[in-house]
Amino acid sequence: MTAQPDPRGDVAVLVPAAGIGARLGAGGPKALRELAGVPLLVHAVRRVLAAPSVATVVVAAPVSSVDDVRAMLPPGVTVVPGGAVRQESVALALAAVPDGYDIVLVHDAARALAPPELCEQVAAAVRGGHPAVVPVLPVVDTIKEVGASGTVVGTVDRSVLRTVQTPQGFRRSVLVAAHAARTSDPMTDDAALVEKLGVPVHTVPGDPLALKITTPLDLEIAALMLRGRWGGGR
Ligand code: C5P
Repeated sequence: MTAQPDPRGDVAVLVPAAGIGARLGAGGPKALRELAGVPLLVHAVRRVLAAPSVATVVVAAPVSSVDDVRAMLPPGVTVVPGGAVRQESVALALAAVPDGYDIVLVHDAARALAPPELCEQVAAAVRGGHPAVVPVLPVVDTIKEVGASGTVVGTVDRSVLRTVQTPQGFRRSVLVAAHAARTSDPMTDDAALVEKLGVPVHTVPGDPLALKITTPLDLEIAALMLRGRWGGGR
């Protein structure tokens, strides 16, 4: 892989990839698990670099694999050691973004097949004036709240619910402020930190290809997607 970051772009992308991925079973850090013979992280970074707006990419790698990760990615990609939790990995990557990038996207390595167009759509919405942007999909299942005893407490109105993907896009100053205000409360995405600041978070349509590869079944689904028309030949 020889693609270099496009120097004409105005977007920096952070890729937290330091998770252990216990739900995927044994076999090393999740981002380094292979899909069609290529690590998930490499799939993700290839697609990010194919987005014309993207000029720089910073990966937060598992501490024990920083050199291996550097070797598998194009030379223009910055690799930093990740943290103990996702937000720490994002903060460490954010600190390594060079000056001059006002739009920062955060994209989980686990969403290895997210297409470049999704980066473009999220970046365009930030460029268009939204300080924070997340891609979302409608919820198709009925959602119920279940109590500790396993009994249903109630049914949630799914019409107002969305599942949230990455890449998520931010004005850099907003993401920096959100991380500066971070507490030890567990947050599963960066938009949640921004919401706590009272900054509005805009939504754009997500993409089924941006599924989060979490379980062994997800890996098989992603392999099928890659082989079929969903893979887009990448
Ligand atoms: O843990 P979860 O599956 O939600 O992780 C989402 C993303 O955050 C993954 O790409 C994972 O590698 C990354 N992560 C990280 N540092 C951690 C934990 C997770 O970069 N300490």
